[in-house]
Amino acid sequence: MEETVKTAGELLAEKLCEKPKNAALIMSDEEIASADSYCEDYKHFMNASKTEREACAEAVRLAKEAGYSEFERGKKYAAGEKFYFVNRGKSVILTVMGKKPLAEGVRLCAAHIDSPRIDLKQHPLYEEKEMALFKTHYYGGIKKYQWTTIPMSLHGVIIRADGEKVTVNIGEDEGDPVFIITDLLIHLANEQMKRPLAQGIKGEELNLLIGSRPFRDDKVSKKVKLNILRILNEKYGITEHDFVSAELEIVPAFKARDIGLDRSMIGSYGQDDRVCSYASLRAVLECSDPEYTAMTVLTDKEEIGSDGNTGLNSSYLPYFIDDLAETQGVKGHTVISNTICLSADVNAAEDPTFSDVTESRNASKLGYGVVFTKYTGARGKSGTSDASAETVGFVRRLMDKSGVIWQTGELGKVDEGGGGTVAAYLADLDMDVIDMGVPVLCMHAPYEVTSKLDAYQCYKAAAAFFNEK
Ligand code: MN
Ligand code: MN
Repeated sequence: MEETVKTAGELLAEKLCEKPKNAALIMSDEEIASADSYCEDYKHFMNASKTEREACAEAVRLAKEAGYSEFERGKKYAAGEKFYFVNRGKSVILTVMGKKPLAEGVRLCAAHIDSPRIDLKQHPLYEEKEMALFKTHYYGGIKKYQWTTIPMSLHGVIIRADGEKVTVNIGEDEGDPVFIITDLLIHLANEQMKRPLAQGIKGEELNLLIGSRPFRDDKVSKKVKLNILRILNEKYGITEHDFVSAELEIVPAFKARDIGLDRSMIGSYGQDDRVCSYASLRAVLECSDPEYTAMTVLTDKEEIGSDGNTGLNSSYLPYFIDDLAETQGVKGHTVISNTICLSADVNAAEDPTFSDVTESRNASKLGYGVVFTKYTGARGKSGTSDASAETVGFVRRLMDKSGVIWQTGELGKVDEGGGGTVAAYLADLDMDVIDMGVPVLCMHAPYEVTSKLDAYQCYKAAAAFFNEK
């Protein structure tokens, strides 16, 4: 047998150089099977959670199954007790009390359950050319042309004149109809094709087709619209004016599915940021008897800047922590100042077709595990909280100790564009915060792509964070 002796250079390189590896080359067969099985549950969650309200309700349903009860203000919770607090049906905080006093801080995971979508305007319904349509206003950053000629479903609530709340969900069941935003046929698109891509479909062209059969009565005009109102009235007891007090959201009707011959990836609407929401949710639901109080907040409004009373730029989270702190005779800000937060949000995976926008040494890679992002922002790091070296050092040691496969990632090349997460708002409260998440292809498109192993490693990272001894 020939002996292979390593050279001094080889040994030195082994000791000193980084060697990033695909998670599939590191994980055992059993662990890959666990990841695949985790992703089956994740796909179910995605299909049940197309909007922030539905994700919130699904999180509460799963929490109750896991033994959580509804938060009672003023109650002193013992270590190990589990409870949830719902903010206006659109965001939820899930907590497991730790053994350590709250004064030592909370282990917080924050993810958002809103995703880019298309909302109805307040006076949406109209008829033109004997077709009935809805006027819309898009929500979050979208490439508008991507949202035409695909099946869409309608979700949300309508508050009727009598104050009754009606829940709407059309287009998800196999037997349901779906809806569509039309686009111009290529044969007549000579002028449209000369528009710049951002103008290919304009905001006021995102009109949703919902009907074409007229109500049979010669005495009335706008018969197609009337027929639609008749159907809506029969189904929901609403009139046209009830749209003014509705929140109706149009989202892709696709189901979450495996992608690739090797089934290594998941395609789904809304993975930004429900892939991290599910990981943070699952980790807190499975957490028992933690040292530090474990908390997951699933928040709303991130995609439009976290403003509004269900977004993390509002005070609902610090108020909740205040209430908890009071029961232990400590100030809320003492708890907050000692809190460490993983801001769980997606990052841009390097796309081989568009690799010129990423700087490969510092971009997140599909299949390389959960990604930690020290800073986001734009231009000269504008708008980011920029995690400290100490915070990065903390998560790095924790991940390595817990066998989590992780990478780092910056959102694109310097000056290529940019973006932000809720991290900055939490850092403003005086927490130590770092972004953690899953690399995504086609972020903000109607169908986004993630790697199953990355989604699983994100869950493992959150679990390691909550369960650290
Ligand atoms: Mn996000
Ligand atoms: Mn986003």
